[in-house]
Amino acid sequence: MVSLSQITSPCSCFTKYILAVLQRTRHLLEVLRQEEFLYGISFSCRNEQNGCNAFLLHDQMRVHEQSCHHEPCFCPVPRCGFAGKTYELESHLATLHRWDVVKFRYGESFEVPVHKPAVFCCEDFGELFHIVSSREGYGTALSMICIRPDNACQEEFTYELKMLAGGRHRLQMQSTVWNTSLRYGIGEGTDVFLLVPDKLPGNESGSVVEVCINKAPAGAASQ
Ligand SMILES: [Zn+2]
Ligand SMILES: [Zn+2]
Repeated sequence: MVSLSQITSPCSCFTKYILAVLQRTRHLLEVLRQEEFLYGISFSCRNEQNGCNAFLLHDQMRVHEQSCHHEPCFCPVPRCGFAGKTYELESHLATLHRWDVVKFRYGESFEVPVHKPAVFCCEDFGELFHIVSSREGYGTALSMICIRPDNACQEEFTYELKMLAGGRHRLQMQSTVWNTSLRYGIGEGTDVFLLVPDKLPGNESGSVVEVCINKAPAGAASQ
């Protein structure tokens, strides 16, 4: 004798399968409708607060933001929130935060105090650099960043840091500069740094570090 469940079970499985397919199709149609909706409306540029009046369709806005001239750099001072063009940030750091502004040229060494916040401005091209200083174990970790807009053209910079200590020791490192607009803050920064031990002879508050920044030849950044 055949039970009712034996008859209905295959049918109910098939019905469940059809329902699942229909539900999935409905979900996909819903997603597609939302996408279509998004592509049909216009958006303001993310740099509206920095003076950009562009108001474009979704996909056009993506293209625009890759070359928007109002793309800002952000202040490295925690919780400041200032955003502006490179030269505006330089002026902001000097006037509001009293940072030293050191003018330099690529390939030429210059000295800066280790424990005084400063920004380095390239005399010829206006790019801004800064040594990020953080505590790391029993010393201070120093690494270089270039503060530039997220959509700036690709450039690669390298840098060297040298520090003489007590006349008998010399610390030295060479690495690639981390390019960042600081939109999301300095965060964890880079893993490569010059570690200046606290107990290094001559490493008192007045110590200086010798800096040299180089610009890689055109095309090197994309290799
Ligand atoms: Zn824009
Ligand atoms: Zn600031």
